[in-house]
Amino acid sequence: MALRLGLLGIGKIARDQHIPSIKANPKFKLVACASRSATVDRVASFKDLASMLAGVPDLDCVSICTPPQAHFDAALMALRAGKHVMLEKPPTLTTRQIALLADEAALYGRTLFQTWHSRFAESVDAAREWLSTRELPSGRITWKEDVHHWHPGQRWIWEPGGFGVFDPGINALSLLTEVLGEEVFVEGATLEFPENQQAPIAANLRMRTFAGAEIAAEFDFRQKGEQSWDIEFETKGGRLKLSRGGAGLEIDGKVIAAEAGMAGEYPRLYARFAALCAAGKSDVDWRPFQLVADAFLIGERRIVAPHEI
Ligand code: NAP
Repeated sequence: MALRLGLLGIGKIARDQHIPSIKANPKFKLVACASRSATVDRVASFKDLASMLAGVPDLDCVSICTPPQAHFDAALMALRAGKHVMLEKPPTLTTRQIALLADEAALYGRTLFQTWHSRFAESVDAAREWLSTRELPSGRITWKEDVHHWHPGQRWIWEPGGFGVFDPGINALSLLTEVLGEEVFVEGATLEFPENQQAPIAANLRMRTFAGAEIAAEFDFRQKGEQSWDIEFETKGGRLKLSRGGAGLEIDGKVIAAEAGMAGEYPRLYARFAALCAAGKSDVDWRPFQLVADAFLIGERRIVAPHEI
């Protein structure tokens, strides 16, 4: 029987990806939603999670699509109500909170799927496999996008806990930690904060792997023209470029896959969520979040020109 699902936070990602992916997957039935100002046609609509849980007590699972500031309390409430939980990235406000949620999921015997949608992009498995047989001296992340185009009017992204440029940047780190065959850590960072905002508009990270590979990352929200969501690896056996957020793949300059956009990521996420619920397992990996937190901890802070939302 289909899992009865409630969706929390009806904004851009809920409408663009979650609702179509849930509707296309026979393992789920979207029966309720909760959002302060939005509703979904032909679905029971509530103003908040508590009312949704009370109004539809036989929900099996809740998918949380609010900004990160609201993730912890919502996930905790849903788990304690006995629901399986799927959680949008970035997971929570602090690394301690996601660790606590993982413990709660185990305590209540529920599934917690803490998602990294970019890991479900088209070329990720091929990149991981190719890299697994090659020695890696260096890598470079270039993640530059126009915040006005991709996050129009999103105030939360500039508020404490909104992650600023790390809201997209953490996707690159989720890919890095997925395709590398070894652990990676932050050695240094520079974070640029607009003088009128509380989250970074740009950041540079210097990372190193256990085996000594140097990984540089450049994140920027001020990009005009061509946008970049690329990771390049120089290995002793050739060069690999994962582009378009993990959809495209080039090896030694030859195009292997030229997929665009996020197509396929969310259908695969919901397929994985259904499998985790059926198996009674969780999937939580906060390493990308630790890299961001460590950049905030040790990064040099620079104040730059004001940014208007
Ligand atoms: P959004 O368009 O701002 O939508 C989020 C919705 O959550 C809002 O419409 C709002 O609806 C609700 N909400 C609840 N508490 C909120 C709060 N404290 N502040 C603001 N809104 C609140 O954001 P989004 O782009 O969908 O992103 C949501 C999450 O998905 C983020 O964690 C983001 O990183 C992730 N994500 C986004 C994308 C993307 O392309 N946009 C891609 C992948 C992942 P009500 O006002 O009706 O309650």
